[in-house]
Amino acid sequence: YNQTAKEYVQTVYEELNQRNHHETEFLQAVEEIVQSLEGVFEKHPEYMEAGILERIIEPERLIAFRVPWVDEAGQVQVNRGYRVQFSSAIGPYKGGLRFHPTVNTSIIKFLGFEQIFKNALTGQPIGGGKGGSDFDPKGKSDLEIMRFCQSFMSELSRHIGPDTDVPAGDIGVGAREIGYLYGQYKKIRGTVEPGVLTGKSLSFGGSLARKEATGFGLVYFMQEMLQDNGLDFTDKTVTVSGSGNVSIYAMEKAVEFGARVVACSDSNGYIYDKNGIDIELVKKIKEVERGRISEYVEKYPDAEYVADGNVWEVPCEIALPSATQNEIDEETAQTLIKNGVIAVGEGANMPSSLEAINQFQESNVLFAPAKAANAGGVAVSALEMAQNSSRVAWSFEKVDGKLQDIMKDIYQNSIQAANEYGEPGNLVAGANIAGFLKVADAMVEQGVI
Ligand code: GLU
Repeated sequence: YNQTAKEYVQTVYEELNQRNHHETEFLQAVEEIVQSLEGVFEKHPEYMEAGILERIIEPERLIAFRVPWVDEAGQVQVNRGYRVQFSSAIGPYKGGLRFHPTVNTSIIKFLGFEQIFKNALTGQPIGGGKGGSDFDPKGKSDLEIMRFCQSFMSELSRHIGPDTDVPAGDIGVGAREIGYLYGQYKKIRGTVEPGVLTGKSLSFGGSLARKEATGFGLVYFMQEMLQDNGLDFTDKTVTVSGSGNVSIYAMEKAVEFGARVVACSDSNGYIYDKNGIDIELVKKIKEVERGRISEYVEKYPDAEYVADGNVWEVPCEIALPSATQNEIDEETAQTLIKNGVIAVGEGANMPSSLEAINQFQESNVLFAPAKAANAGGVAVSALEMAQNSSRVAWSFEKVDGKLQDIMKDIYQNSIQAANEYGEPGNLVAGANIAGFLKVADAMVEQGVI
C-alpha cells in the first residue's frame, strides 16, 4: 500500500473536515477515534486497502423528516426528526432517541458514530444508530408529549423494526416517551413486536435493570478501573452532573460502594449537600414530579442550591459527568485537577472536550471514556432484545450479573488493546481500538458494501 497509516488517517479526516466543517460535534467524535487508530492501520494495512475508515465515517443512511403536531392551544407546531443508521456491520442499528432543542445532524451523527464502537465493545450483536428531534419536552403537557411521540413514530415506523433498527431513550426520552412511541408503532404495524424498542415498561416487554443499567454500569466500570489501580469508592467524595436516569443510578451505586455523593445538577443549576445527596428525593423530584433540582433545598435547607452554577466547581475525588456533550472544557478540567480529582468517568456521551481529555491524561487522572464507561445502558438494551426474541423475562439478579460481567470485559478488553498498541493504561485509545477492530473485521469479511 503506497500510503503510510499516518497519511491515510490524516487524509480521510481532512477530507471529512472539508466536506462537513460545520458539523463540529461529529468532527470531534471522529477526531477522537482516528487519533487512536494510526497504530491499527500500521499493523493491519488490509483495513486501509478495504477503505474501512472512509466507509465507517459515512452513515449507511441518514433519514430526516417533518414532525407536525398540534399543541394545547390548538396551534400547529413543526419539528425536525432524524434517524441515522450508521453501521449494521455487527447487528441491527441500535441507539437511543434524543429530544432536545440542540438536536441537529451534527449531534445525531456524533452520537450515532460513538454508538458503533460502544455497541461493539459490549460484545452484543448490535450495530450503531441514533435519532431524535429538536422538540423541547421542557414545559410540555403530557398530552403534547403523546401527540408529538405519535407523530414522530408515524414517520419513523417505516424505517425501524426488531431486526433492522431498534431505538431506545436518550436525553428527553424516558419510559413515558418509549410507551407512547411503542403504542403508535404497534397501531401502525398491527402486530406485537416488542423488540422494536428498548427501555420499555416491564408490563409490555421491558427488562428488569434496564432503567438502572447505564448508571450502575458506569460505577461497575469505575470500580474495575479503581481496583486495577489499587483504589476503590470507599469514603471517596463523588460529584455527578445531571439528575436524569444515568446520574440517579450512578449516585445510588456509588453510595452502595461506600462513596459520599455530595452534588448533582440540572440545566438550571446544581445542589451541594455536604451530608450526602438524598437520592430518593432527587428521584421523586425528577422522575415523579418532573420538577427542578432547586426544589431539593425545600426539604434540606442546609443544602446549597447554586442557580446557573457549574457543578464542577465543587471539589471531588471522583467526577461522573452524566449530563451532556462538552460539559467539561479545558478550563473546567483544570479546576477539577486543581481540586484534587483522581478519577473521571463519563456517564454522558462525549462530556469532555478533546482538550479536557488531554488535561486529565497529562495529570495522570484515571479517565474512563464514555464509549466504554456508559455502555451498560445499551448492553442491557441488547439483553432486553434477547429476552423479547425468546419471549422470556429474566430476574433482576440475572440481568445485573450479566451487566457486571459485560462492564468488566469492556474494561479488560480496552486495557489489553491499549497495552497491545503501545498506549499502556490509556483507556481512550484502548476503547477506540478494541471497538474499532471488531467492526473493521466484520466489514472486511462482508466485502465493500
Ligand atoms: N442512549 C443510550 C446510549 O447512549 C442507550 C441507547 C440504547 O439503549 O439503545 O448508549
